[in-house]
Amino acid sequence: MRGACHCGAVRFETRSAPGDASICHCGQCRRQSGGLWASANLPAADLSIEGEVRWFRASESARRGFCPVCGAFLFWQADGSPGIAFALGAVDGPTGFHDPPGIHVPDPAPTPAGPLHDSCLCGGVTVTFDPTPGEITACHCTQCRKISGHVPHSFDDPHRVARIAGRVATFTSPGGAVRSFCPICGTKVAFDGPSGLLSLEAGLFDQLAGRAPDLHIFTADKGDYYDLPEGASAYPGAGPD
Ligand SMILES: [Zn+2]
Ligand SMILES: [Zn+2]
Ligand SMILES: [Zn+2]
Repeated sequence: MRGACHCGAVRFETRSAPGDASICHCGQCRRQSGGLWASANLPAADLSIEGEVRWFRASESARRGFCPVCGAFLFWQADGSPGIAFALGAVDGPTGFHDPPGIHVPDPAPTPAGPLHDSCLCGGVTVTFDPTPGEITACHCTQCRKISGHVPHSFDDPHRVARIAGRVATFTSPGGAVRSFCPICGTKVAFDGPSGLLSLEAGLFDQLAGRAPDLHIFTADKGDYYDLPEGASAYPGAGPD
């Protein structure tokens, strides 16, 4: 299996069959992916990585690797473990996995009244959003899968009222969308679309943990390793707008 980040600066290749696939809902993976992170494990000696990975320690016991250029969240490795996890969303072509179990799944969240205020994993970037967030959108396009490592969740900020404090890095995707992330920890912050519509990454806010997406877009491009939730509002392309 081969994979790469969105910009192509980091590439990886597996040399043995990975196992233990899962979709992680923990607060650390939510921040780095912007939504949820899907991964599979194999011995670290069987994963070759090319390109510069930036590692961040969100806990005492593990490190998380992302591409410093585009921000894609790619790897997770526990200290003292012979294994490493890589992002299934970054794989090019079929993965052979089917519906990996969710782990660290929070209780379903009620719709919060707002305001939202939270920070990235390292604390360097904070985001405040006073209105009640609207629909949460899960994007399954290849760009978003590679950036997030699975599927990012976001909501629109049509009047651009979010207050983003701290230093963010940006990467402009082919097509003109500007994606911003914390350059220290890789937390996804926002998606500034080519039409001028700003969306904020839901994964950054603990208040939105457990809030299921209201709609799923670009499902024609989704990965082979998961199914959409039953009865989901799903659009093969850009959605209802
Ligand atoms: Zn990259
Ligand atoms: Zn996690
Ligand atoms: Zn950070």
